[in-house]
Amino acid sequence: MKPHGPIPPGFRADASGMLLIGGDRAEALADAAGDTPLFVYDSAMLIARAAQWRAAMPKGVQLHYAMKANPYAPLLVHMATLVDGFDVASGGELKMALAGGMAAEHISFAGPGKRDRELEAAIMAGVTLNIESAGEAERALSIAGRQGVTPRLAVRVNPDFDLKGSGMKMGGGAKPFGVDAVAVPALVRRLIDAGADWRGFHIFAGSQALDAAAIADTQAQTVALAARLAKEIGTAPPLVNLGGGMGVPYFPGDKAVDVAAVGAALAQTLGGRDPILATSGFAMELGRWLVAEVGVYLTRIVDRKTSHGETFLVTDGGLHHQLAASGNFGTVIRRNYPIAIANRFGDEPAETVSVVGCLCTPLDRLGDQVALPHADVGDLVAIFQAGAYGASASPSAFLGQGPAGEMLV
Ligand SMILES: *Cc1c(COP(=O)(O)O)cnc(C)c1O
Repeated sequence: MKPHGPIPPGFRADASGMLLIGGDRAEALADAAGDTPLFVYDSAMLIARAAQWRAAMPKGVQLHYAMKANPYAPLLVHMATLVDGFDVASGGELKMALAGGMAAEHISFAGPGKRDRELEAAIMAGVTLNIESAGEAERALSIAGRQGVTPRLAVRVNPDFDLKGSGMKMGGGAKPFGVDAVAVPALVRRLIDAGADWRGFHIFAGSQALDAAAIADTQAQTVALAARLAKEIGTAPPLVNLGGGMGVPYFPGDKAVDVAAVGAALAQTLGGRDPILATSGFAMELGRWLVAEVGVYLTRIVDRKTSHGETFLVTDGGLHHQLAASGNFGTVIRRNYPIAIANRFGDEPAETVSVVGCLCTPLDRLGDQVALPHADVGDLVAIFQAGAYGASASPSAFLGQGPAGEMLV
């Protein structure tokens, strides 16, 4: 038997043992969708996540949503009412953010390799471009000049540090992201001299960190770096985007981030900041922390079989929707996501089984030798922490399976 990650708090069953999501029975949701597999996102939980963050953070710090974590259109519409801005990373996401109802002045666009037509769309819409290189800055300035508009430009800084314990390092050393800190002052002066509306800094050091002290330490370094750069430039940045990095507990032994501790440390950092940042605004951009926990992936058992003494529950889902849960989205060692039998939720485990998907590859494993209540053909498997990097980050065209359903309740 191998352990699985912790089931997020707040999920419970009705008297019959059926998992409830947003107060609805999992089986009823699958019926309403007409088919499985299905992602269900709980809007009340989303409201609670945003409220938890705001209660913990110092007043005035803005909450941005990094929409690559989950760009499902109804979720974006809901999210636009809960956060202060969206961060997008492609022209396609920009369109979705605007369609979701987020005002252009509250959208920023980061990411390497922005094409001229994407730069132009952003400049004409009036969103802030987080400039990733000197070359990109020149292309943006010349497009804006041709169009006769003042571009809103921030500079993404590749910091000289990374976020300790983060699952994905996005700063420190040679990176395709951002402009090396040492080259930032000259670039910002170039933007200001060229007449651009300089919006500030974007400094993102890493992702999927659970240790509040490490996050707080990175934020302190980030604010200090912003102050140092501002002094060299001689102008205060209107906004310092501190990045995010708050992760979620996917695996056995993982503990949720102590958000109150992050907020208390940030209040201290901002309270003691260099006077050059006195008038600057601050933002955090969060992806998975906001949405992972609110999502459940429901997939139905199609077959139950044994091979060499091992029991397999074969489902109608798989890595084509849940690449991360299968262990193939940037993890070194495969571990089990939180998993349950949705219609026997809360029952004691009765056997050790492997839950696999329907794809013809040994990579397609949703639960490896997990202890679950007895389950059979027709039962529903629930995978938790499924609201981020699921539907849109998995190869749904693989083997002709097609996308899963999605639903916001
Ligand atoms: C991916 C990304 C995020 C979101 O990361 P999460 O781990 O989902 O919070 C935030 N900012 C930038 C620049 C990103 O590329």
